[in-house]
Amino acid sequence: MWGPPNQNVFVSPYIKLQGKRESRRDHYYYSFPLLSLPSSSSPASPPRAPPPPQAKLQASSSSGPPGMAGKQGDGGDGREEDGAKVGLPALDISLAFPQATPASIFPPSASDYYQIDDLLTTEEQSIRKKVRAIMEKEIAPIMATYWEKAEFPFHAIPKLSSLGVAGGTIKGYGCPGLSITASAITMAEIARVDASCSTFILVHSSLAMVTIALCGSEVQKQKYLPSLAQLTAVGCWALTEPNHGSDASSLITTATKVPGGWHIDGQKRWIGNSTFADVLVVLARNANTKQLNGFIVRKGAPGLKATKIENKIGLRMVQNGDIVFNKVFVPEEDRLPGVNSFQDISKVLAISRVMVAWQPIGISMGVFDVCHRYLKERKQFGVPLVAFQLNQEKLVRMLGNIQAMLLVGWRLCKLYESGKMTPGHASLGKGWTSRMAREVVSLGRELLGGNGILADFLVAKAFCDLEPIYSYEGTYDINSLVTGREITGIASFKPAALAKARL
Ligand SMILES: Cc1cc2nc3c(=O)[nH]c(=O)nc-3n(C[C@H](O)[C@H](O)[C@H](O)COP(=O)(O)OP(=O)(O)OC[C@H]3O[C@@H](n4cnc5c(N)ncnc54)[C@H](O)[C@@H]3O)c2cc1C
Repeated sequence: MWGPPNQNVFVSPYIKLQGKRESRRDHYYYSFPLLSLPSSSSPASPPRAPPPPQAKLQASSSSGPPGMAGKQGDGGDGREEDGAKVGLPALDISLAFPQATPASIFPPSASDYYQIDDLLTTEEQSIRKKVRAIMEKEIAPIMATYWEKAEFPFHAIPKLSSLGVAGGTIKGYGCPGLSITASAITMAEIARVDASCSTFILVHSSLAMVTIALCGSEVQKQKYLPSLAQLTAVGCWALTEPNHGSDASSLITTATKVPGGWHIDGQKRWIGNSTFADVLVVLARNANTKQLNGFIVRKGAPGLKATKIENKIGLRMVQNGDIVFNKVFVPEEDRLPGVNSFQDISKVLAISRVMVAWQPIGISMGVFDVCHRYLKERKQFGVPLVAFQLNQEKLVRMLGNIQAMLLVGWRLCKLYESGKMTPGHASLGKGWTSRMAREVVSLGRELLGGNGILADFLVAKAFCDLEPIYSYEGTYDINSLVTGREITGIASFKPAALAKARL
């Protein structure tokens, strides 16, 4: 009842072969079974996949490349007389490009130049180490495949559960009760290997679970948080609407009081995990009071429809959905009593923005680590790429950005822990780290040359994944305006001509 529906579960050949792994080399082969070179002699070789449908189409279509369509001897099966073939699976990346190791075998961490680890407690260091090890071992080998397919790796949910981070700072109800620093540092460690997984956890934990913990009744906390903490149930958080993104506080989805509960009507957009979530935390406008209210909607509720947003260029593993609510009934017991205005939601956003601030940090760390290894392995003009002064400058610029980001992120956590953090602090942290990380991933993309556009070497994937993070949880601009309002006392969200300026 609480798990993902069967039709959404993609059973990867990777799982079936997992038990047979013997060496790092084998491990890599199994990670990309559909891409491996066919080898009849090796017992470890996975079964060959049939050619992709589009390749078949190209080979038989008269609108194919000149000289190909209708060629004698083609036979419609993609084979030409001279032996050249089309439609074969891609060459395994480790064979196509043997000089550098792909990110499926994740590089060691090399970005903690100022030894920020020393600022962490023993408990924080230990969970960081644990999360890093699981992410490198379990997620790195599969991430490029699932990112390319834009599918969520449902079979990896138990691995993500074993990180022990869902529920983050929430105490009790089966949640880990981490310090905010521990929670943030683990968010970075997840993002270091895969930003989609970090967004999955962010939405589930820092938005859906935190809203229930901060704004839910005792009964709701006991009912929902334990299974969400175990990831036996998955949550999503629905604020944004097609016509209300940056001005989400003007949302128009309505909640109308009916006997025994509420009817939700309206539409949401971009909602992460929503296509399969068991628990949907939905924000809607009370048709009577016009205030914002919060509701827990259960998967499969009549009138609820969530469809996947296709063709994303970033965070491709995350299943973002368009949701339509048509008189969706929510019983009174599932209305969140603590959500009565947008200010109540701001308390949730303050925590989640600290977490989001650490995603660009983690992404930058991973990109740096991959580049650091790649430049040492790859040779041009007879020397490793790392020997070139221009490349060293880029690496050092990336490293400098990371040190600054880590210190800002760490300080943000300390401000939160001491009760001094303001919305402006959180917004500056989120906006600024995502801006700094843009430079890091861009330099990384350059440093890897052609391989800088391949997901196999992480950097291209990270480059694309950072873009939605730059825009979600308040775009860079909106977060700047939140901080700007705090330090000037003037709200500039509306153009001066429209605003009732309080100068
Ligand atoms: C991958 C992804 C995942 C997401 N996940 C979720 C989720 O789980 N739940 C959820 O509720 N939402 C989610 N969102 C929505 C996200 O929070 C919004 O996309 C974001 O708030 C920006 O809104 P918008 O896309 O409508 O951009 P718009 O509001 O249309 O903004 C477009 C541009 O105009 C600028 N702009 C807008 N207003 C102003 C202003 N007043 N002053 C200056 N510039 C301005 C913006 O900075 C931006 O550059 C997600 C989005 C993405 C892309």
